[in-house]
Amino acid sequence: MRLDNQLWESKYHEAVDRLTREETQWKTAESLLRQLVGCLGRAAHGSNDQLDPHIEQLSSALHGPVDAMVLEPLVNDLSQALDRLGERPQNAIEERSIPITRPQRTEHGSSVQSALSRLVDRIVVLPKLADRANDLRHDVADAGDLVALAACGDRLADLVNEQRIGLQREIDALQAVLRHVTSRLDEMSQYMSRELADQSTGEANGQALDASVSHEMRLLDEAALELDDIHDLRERVGESIEKIAACFREFRDREGSRLTAYRDRAEKMRLRIEQLETERNALQRSLEREHELAQTDTMIGMPNRLAYEKRIEVAFEAWKTASRPLCVAAIDIDHFKSINDTYGHTAGDAVLRIIGQALVKHVRPCDFVARYGGEEFIVVFDGADEHEALQVCERLRGKIQHLAFHASRQPVRVTASIGLTQFQSGDTPQTVFDRADLALYTAKNGGRNRCVIG
Ligand code: GH3
Ligand code: MG
Ligand code: MG
Repeated sequence: MRLDNQLWESKYHEAVDRLTREETQWKTAESLLRQLVGCLGRAAHGSNDQLDPHIEQLSSALHGPVDAMVLEPLVNDLSQALDRLGERPQNAIEERSIPITRPQRTEHGSSVQSALSRLVDRIVVLPKLADRANDLRHDVADAGDLVALAACGDRLADLVNEQRIGLQREIDALQAVLRHVTSRLDEMSQYMSRELADQSTGEANGQALDASVSHEMRLLDEAALELDDIHDLRERVGESIEKIAACFREFRDREGSRLTAYRDRAEKMRLRIEQLETERNALQRSLEREHELAQTDTMIGMPNRLAYEKRIEVAFEAWKTASRPLCVAAIDIDHFKSINDTYGHTAGDAVLRIIGQALVKHVRPCDFVARYGGEEFIVVFDGADEHEALQVCERLRGKIQHLAFHASRQPVRVTASIGLTQFQSGDTPQTVFDRADLALYTAKNGGRNRCVIG
């Protein structure tokens, strides 16, 4: 029972830790989103007199704490102003400086688009929101003008809100589980104290019987000394035997009903324990499933960034005490944007899926690979130094380069750049990630399709 209790508590704390971590990430996303809306506002400001007052109001509302009740009417007003703009005659739009097609996108527009695109890539959503995040990523890439980007920003805000609500729901559900388990444990402890009290009653009944019988025997002893007549003595003995028998009957009756009540309670408790066991197993299975889903990239079917973060934390703790080397490699597909732009996002998704699966297939069984986000992957080489890890990275790079992608029967060349680094004393997972990222940057600057040790 104590083990069960500990298991539940540690599962609960682990889940709450995870949710708190995710909530922090979402708060960061929210602040980025605010910056993005500010950026969008600045970019769009001045492009239309009708929009400017709404943009100004929205931007100043975003400086303080975000209140949905205040923001919603402002966003609605802006949307309506945008709609009214769309109702104008075509030539009126063309006169304005809001670009409406991709080639006419302003510098502001493309920086907003890439900021929004990076933001969508960075966020790790709950599995049930993954499809929406994916659609949004595609729509951001396809957005032709600031109006379309603003609509994507709106959708991203909705997604962030839903994610936070979803996380809160998970926390509530876990707290309900904990309350449920605690109340069951209370029930069990009440049962145990009833049993202890009952045991004392049993002992008291036995002592009372002992005392009554001893008392009768003492009286009989005294009578034997006092009474000379054998008749009187026999009668006295008879009375005593009757009294002792009555004491035993009373004891048996009391013990009998105590035993029946005990059996009833024990049976009820056995059923309760059985029920708790079934519930516990079902909950454990669903927690494990949730846990697995939360750490899986659903598009590719491989571990995601959260899974990497957990893995590197465990490997880092082990590395601090053991003398085994530990390396991390950041892999980024080269010019992936142009694959999307040329062949479309669905083809881009398929390329990512194939590359992800190839990485999973070609790392060694002791290595760990995850999709870090967007078109970036990350590998943990536990027990390998940078020279061994470099050999694997070169092999992975070669595998990607030789994957046979085709479009209209023409081969499409896809390559990747890799930044690799080994944990050194004083490192943390963050410093190592930053160094791998810097090495990746060097690989990109050096001409791409190469591995660089950082
Ligand atoms: P570089 O060689 O410098 O890495 O260039 P790049 O084009 O690969 O890098 P950039 O960061 O400019 O663009 C990455 C693109 O990857 C933009 C983003 O829309 C796209 N992307 C991210 N995630 C997905 C996805 O899940 N599916 C598809 N199709 N595209 C994605
Ligand atoms: Mg990238
Ligand atoms: Mg890239």
